[in-house]
Amino acid sequence: MAKEFIAPGKIVTGKGSLKEVAKYIEGFGKKALIVCDQITEKLGKVKIITDALSKKDISFAIYDDFLGEPTNVMIADALSIYRKENCDFLIGIGGGSALDIMKAVAAMDANEGKLSDYMGKEITGIKTKMVAIPTTAGTGSEATQFTIVSDVDTGVKMLLKGAQLMPDVAIIDPELTMTLPPKMTASTGLDALTHAVEAYTSRKAQPLTDTLAISAIKRIFNYLPLAFHDEGSDVARTQMSIAALEAGMAFNNSSVTLVHGMSRPIGALFHVPHGISNAMLLSVCLEYAKEGAKERFADMARAIGAANDSDSVEVAADIFMSQIKKICHVCQIPTLAGYGIEKEAFFAQIDKMAEDAMISGSPSNTVRELDVEVIKELYRKLYD
Ligand SMILES: [Zn+2]
Repeated sequence: MAKEFIAPGKIVTGKGSLKEVAKYIEGFGKKALIVCDQITEKLGKVKIITDALSKKDISFAIYDDFLGEPTNVMIADALSIYRKENCDFLIGIGGGSALDIMKAVAAMDANEGKLSDYMGKEITGIKTKMVAIPTTAGTGSEATQFTIVSDVDTGVKMLLKGAQLMPDVAIIDPELTMTLPPKMTASTGLDALTHAVEAYTSRKAQPLTDTLAISAIKRIFNYLPLAFHDEGSDVARTQMSIAALEAGMAFNNSSVTLVHGMSRPIGALFHVPHGISNAMLLSVCLEYAKEGAKERFADMARAIGAANDSDSVEVAADIFMSQIKKICHVCQIPTLAGYGIEKEAFFAQIDKMAEDAMISGSPSNTVRELDVEVIKELYRKLYD
């Protein structure tokens, strides 16, 4: 069977690469809409871009009026600025939210109707050039054909996709992640780990995604605890930036599975940040998936040096699970209760969450058979 692999048109990595941005937007347009979060702006990172644009006589407008993860309302606001200001290309700099807003703006500029009309469809028609510059090491959005946007009217965190949502240029400058606070380092780093593990254990895994996923998993186990404890650690931050990119490229081409499927509804209804809800789910979901892919779990344990060749597949797979628990513990991931979510409120939403998870399509890429009842049971287990 033919296997497709898509990636950004150009990937630029390395410390200080943001300063070279002018080189990579040649011919993209006359006026950029820069989508950025206010923290990135305050840190002076957006100015590096605007200075570069000015030197090239390219004008710009800025959309930074958002907090938290993208909603359809934010997309409508950003799109109206894009049109009113006559912008003709997009630059997204920030965490996953800024990049996802950028992609959704490109999608809705090219298409009629509402964002929710495109759930489950391939979004096409995008001609706008996009430059993605992540300031966290986690979402991998710079290298994916997805954008995740919550619909405030339906309470659904929508997974929207299309090969044309892939950024034309991704600039991965680890310098941008150096001041990331520990909590953000943990949640985004574990999001990247989730991407890599899910990519490696997805039904759609393929040789190229396997290579990237295993490489990301190794880097994350080696360097996430270091980056978490020492925010300034140059080497750890650089390694995590590459890991997030690798993991993004991996799941972009082989899909995420059960964890992400179950994580989005928790995020939509209980406002748990994406990386945290993933991390909360990792152990319960992977324990379930493991029974369908012991060899793959054993591979991961061996890749990170936690198991060796003399360990049986069974033992090595279990070792990997204990390593997952350990890294979540090291990164101080709370439980649902610890996060302040009441049991009653959570249980009241399990039916809706399980259905929304199933509809997203991600859970069915899990290597082990499952249905909506299994997901409900896993949500219950997660709380207890
Ligand atoms: Zn994710």
